[in-house]
Parts: sequence; structure tokens; C-alpha cells
Amino acid sequence: MPTATSTPAKPLGSLRDLTTSRNAWIEIDLDALDHNVATMRSLVGPGIELIAVVKANAYGAGAEVLAPALEAAGVERFAVVWPAEALNLRAAGVTRPILVLGHAFPADAPAAIAANITLTCHSLALGHAISEAALARGTTATVHIKVDTGLHRFGVNLDQAVALAQALRSMPGLDVEGLTTHMANADEPDDSFSELQDQRFAHIAELLPWIRYRHTANSATALRRDEFRYDGVRLGLALHGIQPANTPPAGLRPILSVRARVARVSDVPPGEGVSYGLRWHPRDPARVALVPVGYGDGWRRSLGNEGHVLIAGRRCPMVGTLCMDQFIADVTALPSVSEGDEITLLGRQGDDELSATEVAAVAGTIPWDIFASLQARLPRIYHRHHEVTAVIGP
Ligand SMILES: *Cc1c(COP(=O)(O)O)cnc(C)c1O
Repeated sequence: MPTATSTPAKPLGSLRDLTTSRNAWIEIDLDALDHNVATMRSLVGPGIELIAVVKANAYGAGAEVLAPALEAAGVERFAVVWPAEALNLRAAGVTRPILVLGHAFPADAPAAIAANITLTCHSLALGHAISEAALARGTTATVHIKVDTGLHRFGVNLDQAVALAQALRSMPGLDVEGLTTHMANADEPDDSFSELQDQRFAHIAELLPWIRYRHTANSATALRRDEFRYDGVRLGLALHGIQPANTPPAGLRPILSVRARVARVSDVPPGEGVSYGLRWHPRDPARVALVPVGYGDGWRRSLGNEGHVLIAGRRCPMVGTLCMDQFIADVTALPSVSEGDEITLLGRQGDDELSATEVAAVAGTIPWDIFASLQARLPRIYHRHHEVTAVIGP
């Protein structure tokens, strides 16, 4: 079990002090988080809620610290995908409404209702279970209905949405608060399919005028389509400070960096090979640094021999096969590198930056995947003004 230190009144120490004897760690900049909340707040304007999407451990940033920080920064609601993720948020002290965007079983209803969680209700069977659980507790449970307007992933079909909504409305203890959908092409170069999805959504919404809370936009849609923001926008990537593809620049600041310390420096003579399979052979005498991070930490194996790290503000190529716990970087151009020097795998160092967008492109994936892959072995270190406020993990 990771040990959690909830945000104390007094900082735990400087970022430097808490990382000098750690092999590798994740830094989360809570000042940047506040900045991103404020930026998105002013961008979407008054009367539209910010719904922080903190599924998959807040995209690797550690939901138990990030969600309370987001609540303190003023986001109105939270969204996750699993009912169990919602319960974890309550256990972490989140008090604002929490919506489960994904599938729930009827058996999930009692615990969810006891914790005042809003489930997305996709069937009469789930509706009955929620209604029963609410009546048993003497409360009213809010639910949202998700309409499948073209993604063909989750939700109810267009031709069944109105009937389901009306049936749920008649169930005691049940309050159908929300109507939602999700866009298929939000960050594609051409997102005109969102217009068709919105037309389908708006048609259902018109037939159900008594449902008072509507939401359709993720980060990309919220940034490029002000007409689809409705009552709230569901923000994941934007709160992480990553600009989604094909959206107008919003001045967001990345919150998450991955860093490590040099574990060994060694010389490799020409003719020798490096790491499993000996896939990298220096032509000239080379110096290499051992980086104590691997795919066991969620650092993508496909970055081996392709990606870069920053050491002393300089880009150093990753060389040879990336292993479960470590990889090699070519530091021939940096003769003074030694054990313990700081390495940036993701984030800014000096004047250079390895962005999630760049790293993802090199790894053949997308920024969400880079974040969601980050494993529990990497400690999460949270800071404000370089003073550490919380640590999760080893
Ligand atoms: C993950 C998710 C979001 C957040 O998407 P971002 O692009 O990270 O902002 C919004 N809505 C749904 C339904 C999701 O699954």
C-alpha cells in the first residue's frame, strides 16, 4: 500500500531535499494546476461548471491528492469511470458531486448511493437498483443518462433515450439530473462530426426539457467549440496542462514531470554493444549514463533507442533496448556527468522541454497513454513554490 500524506499545513521540505536520494520520481506542480483551473474557468466563462475528470488515478497524477487540490481550486464536480474510483475520491475527502461516466452493475448501487455518487444509468435494471438503494436510505439519488450520438461506445441508443429517461423519472427516490454524450472526433483535424452528434443530442434534449444539466465536451471540444459547452465541461487533459491536438493555444502549464538520477556512468569502447540484444554500438568511444526507470515504471519500451532525456539542460539520446527497470542514455557530449545528477524524462529542464505530446509521438501513442501508464513504484511528489506538500508512494 502506498503511504499517503495529506496536504499538511507545513511543507515537508524542499523538492531538492526530498529527491536527492530517490532514484526516480514524479513531480506534480500544484501551482500549475491552479493556473490551469483558473485558465479554463476564464475561458469557458460564467455559468458553466468545470467537471474534473480524474479517472485512471487522475491520469497517473494520484487522484487522492489531486482531487482534493482541484476541489480547493474551485472545480464544481468530478468524474471518474469506475464506481470504485468514485468511492476512493470520497475516501480522499472529496465533498462535491462525483459522476461515474462508465458502466455500473445494479450491485454497485447501494455503496454508490451511500457515498452520494451519481451513476450514469443505462438500463431499467440499474434504475430499479438505484431507486431501491435510495429509498432504503431515505434519500434521493441523482443519475445521468448518456446518449450514444455516434461514438458507438457507451450510452443508450438515440431511439431508446427518451423512453429510458421517462421510465427513470417515474421511479421513486430517483432524480434524473443529467443528460450527456461524448464526441468521437473532438481533437481530429476535422471535427465537423461533432456538429452531427450535437444535433442528435440537442434533439433528445428538446424532448426531455425537464433534465436540467447537460454536458458533452471534453478538453478538446471545450477549447474549440464554445457552442457545445452546455452546463459543464469535462476536463482531463486540459487540467494536466496539455494542449489537445487541433485546438487554439490556451496558455496551459503542464503539471506533471518525470525525473530520475544517474545511477552509473561508464565508458563503452567502439565495437561493444549496449543493453539486451546489443542493439546500439557506438562508432567512437562513448560515455553512457544508466537511468533507473523502465517499462516496469510505465516508461514505454518503444522509446528505447528512439527517445531523449535531458541532463544538464541538454538532450541526450536514449540508446539500446529499454529494460523493465532501467535504460541507457548517451552522455558522450557531457563529460562531467556523474552519479546522482538529475535527469528529466518528461517536463522542463533549463531552457528545453520534453513535452507529453513529443514523448507520446516518439513512443507511437498519445499523451493520455503516457500519463495513464505511470506505475505506483514512482513516488508522486506534490509541490507548491518548490516546497513539497505531499508524497504518495515509496
Ligand atoms: C476521459 C473522458 C473525458 C476527459 O477527456 P480529456 O480529453 O482528457 O479532457 C471526458 N469525457 C469522457 C466521457 C471521458 O471518458
